[in-house]
Amino acid sequence: MAKQPSLHCSFCGRSRDEVKILIAGQEGHICENCVEHAQEIIAQELQIKTEQQSAQYRFTIRKPQEIKTYIDQYVIGQNEAKKILSVAVYNHYKRITQKQQQDEVEIEKSNIVMVGETGTGKTLLAKTVAKLLNVPFAIVDATVFTEAGYVGEDVESMLTRLLQVCNYDVAAAEKGIVYIDEIDKIARKGDNPSITRDVSGEGVQQGLLKMLEGTEVLVPPQGGRKHPEQKMIKVNTSNILFICGGAFDGIDKVIARRVNTNAIGFNVNKDQQDLQRKNLLQFVNAQDLKSFGLIPELLGRLPVVTHLEPLDAETLRAILTEPKNSLVKQYTRLFELEGITLKIDDGVLDFMVGKAMEFKLGARGLRSICEHILTDAMFELPGSDTKEFHITTEYAQEQFNKSKMNMLKVA
Ligand code: ADP
Repeated sequence: MAKQPSLHCSFCGRSRDEVKILIAGQEGHICENCVEHAQEIIAQELQIKTEQQSAQYRFTIRKPQEIKTYIDQYVIGQNEAKKILSVAVYNHYKRITQKQQQDEVEIEKSNIVMVGETGTGKTLLAKTVAKLLNVPFAIVDATVFTEAGYVGEDVESMLTRLLQVCNYDVAAAEKGIVYIDEIDKIARKGDNPSITRDVSGEGVQQGLLKMLEGTEVLVPPQGGRKHPEQKMIKVNTSNILFICGGAFDGIDKVIARRVNTNAIGFNVNKDQQDLQRKNLLQFVNAQDLKSFGLIPELLGRLPVVTHLEPLDAETLRAILTEPKNSLVKQYTRLFELEGITLKIDDGVLDFMVGKAMEFKLGARGLRSICEHILTDAMFELPGSDTKEFHITTEYAQEQFNKSKMNMLKVA
């Protein structure tokens, strides 16, 4: 009779008699000692990974002035918004550290709402602050959400984005920043309670309340709509800073009605009055946002309100050259990498600003204008023996005029 091969652990080699349990696999066995050992190794490895991830997001508190100085390098103008944002962000993160020390006076959260035309730097401001503080940052669009139970995404899925950017490191996400864009688009649709529910307006605002205030939310790991069998990730939002932004088209009329434009200019000359009327946004407050259609409960959870100025030609020109990663610096670098020195005449910058204003494209349009002017050169010059490329105003005009953009002119 053939002898049965003796069973032993394929990892440590101990025989069946030397161990208590031997678990059979398809091609081998493992004993209880090796299982325990493997478990320890896994736990250690996971711990190291979590520590590494958290170290990646170890945030540093900065004083408001430091925050503003940093933002100044990337965002032009918008001094008031920068100041208000710096203070709010500083207080928010001070609040987190104070909480850890179990202080008696509990500081409330300072979520922020920024009002300003599109393309004036709202997202850029929020993004820059998150970069400085080294916290996870997610941008979400308020218009994709609907009240739970209706077609669309649940508001909780905005936390999915935050988890995704930090590789599902829940501890890091819980100190992150969420930028909710187009908050004005979820304004209540009129004052009369209608028969149809306002599921993408007021319904979403209601959905946001608890999350903005701070609560434990069950987040679907892949976003979208929650469903019962799905495994959820628990995220506490008490230390997440929410910054909301919106253009609030037409809010100037609401402000004008409130402040009664005649009264603003009391004691100032006519020019100043005109100027103030032009930029009524500077007087925006929670009451105006309420008249616009945000519900008082939501506004209560967004205590800091600030505005962004419309960009004038001078600011647009500065945006082209001054920020640390300005467009001119970026293109110069791109050409430099090809061994080509890029020289741009001052007139070209004025021309680009002029076109951005004429086409009402704001700062966002500057990039596409640059692309139209430079595409031919970026296509032809790499690989040639050109060492210097000089853009004159005539060249810029010629390139722009033959581009498709020229047909897009807004009436
Ligand atoms: P918003 O969120 O207000 O619609 P963004 O912050 O997305 O506008 O701005 C769009 C782009 O325009 C930014 O990526 C940036 O390149 C440029 N930009 C806008 N405003 C400024 C500014 N004040 N300073 C520097 N760049 C700006």
